Amino acid sequence: QSPPNDLDAFWMPFTDNRYFKANPRLLASARGMYYQTPEGREILDGTAGLWCVNAGHGRESIVEAIREQAGRLDFAPTFQLGHPLAFQLAARVGGMMPGDLDRVFFANSGSEAVDTALKIALAYHRVRGEGTRTRLIGRERGYHGTGFGGIAVGGIGPNRRTFGPGLPGSDHLPHTHDLARNAFTRGQAAHGAHLADALEGLVALHGGDTIAAVIVEPMAGSTGVLVPPIGYLERLREICTKHGILLIFDEVITAFGRIGAATAAERLGVTPDIITMAKGITNAAVPMGAVACRRGIYDAVTGAMAQAAGIELFHGYTYSAHPLACAAALATLDLYRDEALFERSRGLEAYWEAAVHGLAEGRHVIDIRNMGLVAGIEMAPREGAPGARGMEVFRRLFDTGLLVRATGDIIALSPPLIVEEAQIDTMVAALAGVLAETV
Ligand code: PMP
Repeated sequence: QSPPNDLDAFWMPFTDNRYFKANPRLLASARGMYYQTPEGREILDGTAGLWCVNAGHGRESIVEAIREQAGRLDFAPTFQLGHPLAFQLAARVGGMMPGDLDRVFFANSGSEAVDTALKIALAYHRVRGEGTRTRLIGRERGYHGTGFGGIAVGGIGPNRRTFGPGLPGSDHLPHTHDLARNAFTRGQAAHGAHLADALEGLVALHGGDTIAAVIVEPMAGSTGVLVPPIGYLERLREICTKHGILLIFDEVITAFGRIGAATAAERLGVTPDIITMAKGITNAAVPMGAVACRRGIYDAVTGAMAQAAGIELFHGYTYSAHPLACAAALATLDLYRDEALFERSRGLEAYWEAAVHGLAEGRHVIDIRNMGLVAGIEMAPREGAPGARGMEVFRRLFDTGLLVRATGDIIALSPPLIVEEAQIDTMVAALAGVLAETV
């Protein structure tokens, strides 16, 4: 049975509002690997909040850094002014990026980071006298947030139907789901290079000199844990380089240890031109997004070249590099380093893979994918009601004390990187139990 590819089922959780109002699921506090409900029930956090609380909840050093910063400097205007932590953090984040992507812009969410990255790409070409490059290429089933740029390059059918054509000329590569969904995938499926050749098709269709950038998640998270087939990202890189197209990795989920390194780019050995981040940068304690770009791109859009071309990158948010977010981020990066959490995440991969594939015999399960400390357990959709089974499993698990994420009929797991093996066993056992009871 084949799941729907236009992701109508993806929207199911958002149509759950009536149920939610009658049965509110509230979280009142959190510590380490657990949330507590107002009634005092413990919920094991199988999703690190929303793929973001990588160091676990309520970490004292982060709380203290926020408290201390709030007392010293609560806010500094973004334009023509700054504060020292912003520069410290930019240097710190830049130092964690691959290649020469050591120039950093700040935003307040993943969606804003995506908008920022798209604007940087467009400005870069214009400054260089290549203003015909205005097309932005995303990927079917890509998720890049809910800003206008993000939904235009994003590959979610319902979103595009609701909000119209999006950005003029934006287009989409085919999704990798059919390849990635290779029954009970361990690691990556082959033939990715072939699939990435679709970009050459778009170049032939539109003209390479009309395309500004290609944006992809190295591993698509929100739309169902789609791991990159072998050779896919490498080939995208080759084709982009050949045609002067910028390659953007949206690492809002994958950065900061989720797949065993600072970035997926580092782990997978493919260096894009621009990387977007958010979530794990502050351990989600304060909202923050960031964009790292190659030095040459930064210099072009902010320096003398842009001035000579009469082009301003008018960009920035009131809350860019907010002092509380910078303080939280610096404390978070200290924790990642001091507790070697990226290494820990990588060290747990083998255990994780074996554990989640233990669900292969689970009722309704048609595929299991994993990468780093992420897993997607895909169920066959219920006849005539795609997404309903996923929602039911989500509800039942929450009631038994485990938080997962349902994307249509795909159950996603992405625990904090501090997870213990015994807790992985608990998650898998809870899932096995609920799968058995779900019709
Ligand atoms: N890009 C990716 C890859 C994401 O996974 C998300 C959020 N899940 C976003 C962008 C949007 O981030 P935010 O919700 O912080 O705007």
